[in-house]
Amino acid sequence: MSLFESPLYKDSLKILETASEVMGLDPNILERLKYPKRALQVAVPIRLDDGTVKTFQGYRVQHNMTLGPGKGGLRYHPKVDLSETAALAMLMTFKCALVGLPLGGAKGGICVDPNELSRQELQSLTRRFATEISMVIGPNSDIPAPDIGTDGQTMAWFMDTYSQLKGYTVPGIVTGKPITVGGSLGRAEATGKGVAFCVNFAAQKLNMTVGPEMKVAIHGFGKVAIPAAQDLKAQGAKIVAVSDVSGAIYDPEGLDIDKAVEWTSRRKFLKDLPGVQLISNEELLALDVDVLIPAAIDGVVTKKNADNVKAKIVAEGANGPLTKEAIEIISAKGGFIIPDILCNAGGVIVSYFEWVQGLQNFFWDLDEINKRLHNILKDSFENVYEAHKEYDVDMKKAAFICAFRRLERAMRLRGLFPS
Ligand code: GLU
Repeated sequence: MSLFESPLYKDSLKILETASEVMGLDPNILERLKYPKRALQVAVPIRLDDGTVKTFQGYRVQHNMTLGPGKGGLRYHPKVDLSETAALAMLMTFKCALVGLPLGGAKGGICVDPNELSRQELQSLTRRFATEISMVIGPNSDIPAPDIGTDGQTMAWFMDTYSQLKGYTVPGIVTGKPITVGGSLGRAEATGKGVAFCVNFAAQKLNMTVGPEMKVAIHGFGKVAIPAAQDLKAQGAKIVAVSDVSGAIYDPEGLDIDKAVEWTSRRKFLKDLPGVQLISNEELLALDVDVLIPAAIDGVVTKKNADNVKAKIVAEGANGPLTKEAIEIISAKGGFIIPDILCNAGGVIVSYFEWVQGLQNFFWDLDEINKRLHNILKDSFENVYEAHKEYDVDMKKAAFICAFRRLERAMRLRGLFPS
């Protein structure tokens, strides 16, 4: 697959081009932002439990490192390819720039369904992958983190492998580690918590309140969706639907989220949860709710189903869950979109906190982390909202514009090598 082939890369380029036109971005800067700085493709052969060898394809793409070391997750998913990884790396550049982190954008992953591998096979896969990409990553150059299909355990194996290669422990090679091996409090919930903060900020702008009157539907029930659901529920909102690959569960009076969390933590499908009404994922997206949070994967709301979306606020918990056309359709009929690079930035913000704490060997308490997370997201939200008003563009383009402003200044100051 060529670099530009994936729908996410094509869409991101289109948004990049329109947003840069609106704000008058220097065309020479735009030209540089269209391409990733560096992309590595690796073969990841492992011995399966049955003794046979299977080779997977892995990638690490560094999009832009003007603001600092590359930062971005590792995704284990059957849809992973070079082009989608490059698009996600590009989104990380804009995400880090938008929320003011001293970090660039990168992303990696392996084309694999992690549910089909045993724990031992996953460990072998992670260790071999870490070895294969070890020459392009480092605590000062490119710092991976969890993403879809990876978690704290994956990061612990990854960190251990990199440390074995170096001969000493390098906690700063990844973020999203378990607390015992140098992780940060609040990192596991940070993305979902950030989504909940952003829903609050948006509600304020639209004169809505997060409380019993607010109905929320969440597409997904994983690392992002669960803490977002828990936080919004704790504020009184009714989480009326959540979903996984098996389908969606629905209760107009609000679901028992704790029960669903307990159920899925035992690797059971939501559709088998006793006493709930089942609906399809498509029906979930079309529910008459106040807030819709697509928090699973990209390309879920497209031009085909965007018109069915009734939510007033659509919070992009995942990366790229709404296509460019879907954003235009929903914005045109008055829907308020909280764009992914703002809405789900909580994860990388607390990753940054983890990296900083690790470098200082001094760890903060949860209160401090959540306060700092809230403040960064609040400021970023206000910036995007102002650009949305100033340029009269949807929130997605406004977010790109805010990211470009910072990148443009930094890229100009650093210049182009050789000049
Ligand atoms: N994978 C997350 C994202 O897409 C987090 C990245 C990180 O923490 O570096 O933003």
